Amino acid sequence: MKPALQGLFPDELRDVCTGAGFPAFRAKQLWQWLQGRHALSWDAMANLPRAFRDALDAGWTPAPLRPLREAGDPGGTRKWLLGLDDGESIETVLIPARDRKTVCVSTQVGCKMACAFCASGKGGWVRNLGAGEIVAQVHHVAALSGGRPNNVVFMGMGEPFDNYDAVLRAVRLLNHPGGLAIGARKITLSTSGLVPGIRRLATEGLQVELSVSLHAPDPERRRRLMPVEGRWPMDELLAACREYTAVTKRIVTFEYTLVRGFNDSADDAAQLAARLRGFPCRVNAIPLSPVAEFDGEAPSRETCHAFLDALLRHGIEGTLRESKGKGVSAACGQLRRGSMRENPPSTIMPSSGA
Ligand code: SAH
Repeated sequence: MKPALQGLFPDELRDVCTGAGFPAFRAKQLWQWLQGRHALSWDAMANLPRAFRDALDAGWTPAPLRPLREAGDPGGTRKWLLGLDDGESIETVLIPARDRKTVCVSTQVGCKMACAFCASGKGGWVRNLGAGEIVAQVHHVAALSGGRPNNVVFMGMGEPFDNYDAVLRAVRLLNHPGGLAIGARKITLSTSGLVPGIRRLATEGLQVELSVSLHAPDPERRRRLMPVEGRWPMDELLAACREYTAVTKRIVTFEYTLVRGFNDSADDAAQLAARLRGFPCRVNAIPLSPVAEFDGEAPSRETCHAFLDALLRHGIEGTLRESKGKGVSAACGQLRRGSMRENPPSTIMPSSGA
């Protein structure tokens, strides 16, 4: 499999080009096509000589993704199933809002974390994405939606800190002023709670947003939803988050999926607030997006709001993420999972036409 050119910084592109015997200005043109104009094929790059393209194509690809399916909903959310060079597939979502255009990217094919309600982990982990495959997802959305997104969340398939190096490279490429130039504060990394990743991120000197998936007010219930609790227990996780905030002066957001009758009561909110007390943070509550493999439902709107009210009464600010894109199977991994059920993986590529 050839690595994607979208994963290279300008100086690395220059080395690839000059190494193949071409002048450095070709690298500048190539960077401009890839990172400035969202080119995702050689054919799109009109002013590059055939010999240059052929020489680079021997070791690299500008086309790491190909759309297999698209789903949309009336709210404007669009979700793509994207095919990779080796026949695997991932999901990428566009979530437009009034003043924001957010892309949700995947970082792995499948996931090792096996959270009970998450479709991404149901088929296990297949492989990590390269930085170019991550960056190319944003270019894909830019190309298909008429321009540059201004917000990127690493909340698609996969656990970003289980693919740390590629993810951080992708963050720096997305942030590069000569490319997509997405502000660091407009990039959110979301983790199921891999403590070493949180500690490492604190040392990067980046202003990115950190979200941590908590989902329960106590370790016992968290463990029932998230096996990772057995490896990195809640107390250690919260300690790492406090350290992160102390070092970076950045506020951590805790994601909390509300499951009816399981973790959604006012008492649960009080218990959660007690655990989070004493350091600046916020909670992002998300009503469960039902998945076939998990026997749980979303609470009513009233219950969700009562949960947030109780949280606030106990001194913790929270917001409710209205489930966007229900009609597009927007929760992690649902589109891929659905298509695996309909067609075994080997038949997805040939039968696609989207
Ligand atoms: N692995 C990372 C990022 C991907 S998931 C993480 O765990 O944070 C992004 C968020 O969506 C996580 O908080 C995840 O737990 C949540 N999520 C996954 N499936 C969901 C579902 N069916 N309903 C609601 N939230 C879900």
